[in-house]
Amino acid sequence: MADDIAQQFSTKMQLDKETGEMVSKNELKKRTQKRTKKAAAAARNGVSVSNPVQEPIPRGQLATAGEPVVDPDAIFKQDFLAQVYKERESKNVVTRFPPEPNGYLHLGHAKAITINFGFARYHGGKTVDSSVVIPLARFDDTNPDAEKEEYFIAIQETIRWLGFAPSKITYTSDNFQRLFDLAEELVKQKNAYVCHCNKAETELQRGGEKGASPRYRCAHANQDVETNLEKFRGMRDGKCAPQSAWLRLKQDIEDPNPQMWDIAAYQIPKDQKPHFRTGTKWRVYPTYDFAHCLCDSFEGITHSLCTTEFRMSRESYKWLNHRLVNFQPMQREYGRLNLTGTILSKRDIQSLIEKKIVRGWDDPRLFTLKAIQRRGIPPGALLSFIYELGVTTAESFVDNRRFQQSVRQYLERSVPRLMLVLDPIPVVIEDAEEQYLDIPFSPKDSKMGSHKIKLTKRIYIDRSDFREVDSKDYFRLAPGKTVGLLQIPYPVKAVSFTKDEASGAIMEIKAVYDKEGKKPKTYIQWVPEGCPTAEVRIHTALFNSDQPKLASGGFMDDVNPNSETIWPNAMVESGFYEVRRRAPWPKTEGEKLGEASLASVRFQAMRVAYFALDTDSTDDRIVLNQIVPLKEDLGKSSKG
Ligand code: ATP
Ligand code: MG
Repeated sequence: MADDIAQQFSTKMQLDKETGEMVSKNELKKRTQKRTKKAAAAARNGVSVSNPVQEPIPRGQLATAGEPVVDPDAIFKQDFLAQVYKERESKNVVTRFPPEPNGYLHLGHAKAITINFGFARYHGGKTVDSSVVIPLARFDDTNPDAEKEEYFIAIQETIRWLGFAPSKITYTSDNFQRLFDLAEELVKQKNAYVCHCNKAETELQRGGEKGASPRYRCAHANQDVETNLEKFRGMRDGKCAPQSAWLRLKQDIEDPNPQMWDIAAYQIPKDQKPHFRTGTKWRVYPTYDFAHCLCDSFEGITHSLCTTEFRMSRESYKWLNHRLVNFQPMQREYGRLNLTGTILSKRDIQSLIEKKIVRGWDDPRLFTLKAIQRRGIPPGALLSFIYELGVTTAESFVDNRRFQQSVRQYLERSVPRLMLVLDPIPVVIEDAEEQYLDIPFSPKDSKMGSHKIKLTKRIYIDRSDFREVDSKDYFRLAPGKTVGLLQIPYPVKAVSFTKDEASGAIMEIKAVYDKEGKKPKTYIQWVPEGCPTAEVRIHTALFNSDQPKLASGGFMDDVNPNSETIWPNAMVESGFYEVRRRAPWPKTEGEKLGEASLASVRFQAMRVAYFALDTDSTDDRIVLNQIVPLKEDLGKSSKG
């Protein structure tokens, strides 16, 4: 690793940011010139190459991960390697994304997915004999108590939505028999034993709560092979109560690494729920520590990429594979991705749902990938955010504002613009004549086309854009004051207004064109009479602090009670129908693979925010979610 870092920081070599390779200064210059030429040619042909979405760049230790090895001293000889290479017909890099199907994927998993797929693609691209990219998705389905079919389905949908297509979907449960047989083999090697100690006893053996007391092994470690085999088979055959027996590895209790202190290899789950795929066939299940490294080897995974908290597990990973298989994948780690101002853990999200603080796993205020999808964030925006962060081993806490900024930049150039009014009040322009206006969907990109708006005598503006009493520092509509209306040739001046006596609310404003006056300082949005109404949901941070987990009283006490504002009677111009018909916006790879969803109906509501259609919408009911505000840190209504 020290070598990798030295190489990365060597002054003679420079990083080619597009490929992630370290190359000489000359080479980098050549490449840059070539790319500039290509970009210029593409621009002439009308192909946009600005801001291309790039693969994450394997850097540092991931960049030089090297070859996996055939372990020459493998204890338990089996010719898996030949079989593995035959099965995948090449020696390409093979990675896998290994989700536990016990919940929905979250933002951090998107990083794991992009790294595993991106790494394989990156190296696959370099392999001469084959252009096949081989990332797998493997379900780590070893704990039926926590797993549900619903999660299996949702996880696969999410991977597809992100735009990735695993070459194969595999399951740890495909290998339950093989794993059991290997566990027996381990017992025969005297490298595993059945233990009946409870949690407290095991903790004590491993040095107590603080790890300060002397470590020791229990008497079970001295059982002979026959006893262990009989007990292990007894566990399998239902002779032991749940959680009353474990198969433990016989490692090295003196080793400084806790992952070597006789960790568990098999357990009997508490609830004994049927397994989604194997039903009631098995009563014992392998642990992650046991199954993961072996399945990696079975599947010919060359690079087992995982997050840094598994750094210590490298040793047990090798220890086990060395004893049972002769193909050793290499484990490499990258840092977890976390976001400020939110929580990602499945258990914590579950409690927010149970307390009805959010609408469900896909509530747009959460950062599960289902929530991100429902909120309307395009997969391409999410990927470019992750690619921008790059691959590092440091665990990062990324500022939520940076995430929003990244999404905003992506939307800015890729979605159409419309006018929407959150809280409409009517304005009658007394001297207006009905006419049709042709309005472009984008001020910058003519390819997005245009749509017609009927300018009616009676239009609607936002209640917050009118004041009964004018003041010097105010530039929107007020009696005697002129304001510009977006897309209309003339500004309007308010002449009078009516109020509801009881509530004091403005009922109607009368206005006239102000054709002679100065150019107005502000232009406001409006919609014509007769356009569709919509329910608009504006979300702000679900928590008050940046680190909800560290808040006094825990994250539940940190919940912001005003994180959702609903505007039930908003109005959106009828161009919306065309935006809906032409979705997805933008036409990103991910959504082409999957169905164009409601959430892919996206637009910028001028002066308000970016919006997407919510899943609560129907053919006749428009419900919109705010994707991101137009500017950083604007308040609830996002209006300036
Ligand atoms: P959580 O406990 O946060 O719900 P997990 O680690 O239990 O997540 P898994 O389903 O086991 O979730 O994760 C699948 C893969 O995704 C693993 O390789 C894991 O290391 C990786 N992963 C999980 N969380 C993150 C994260 N925040 N950043 C990057 N990778 C992650
Ligand atoms: Mg996990």
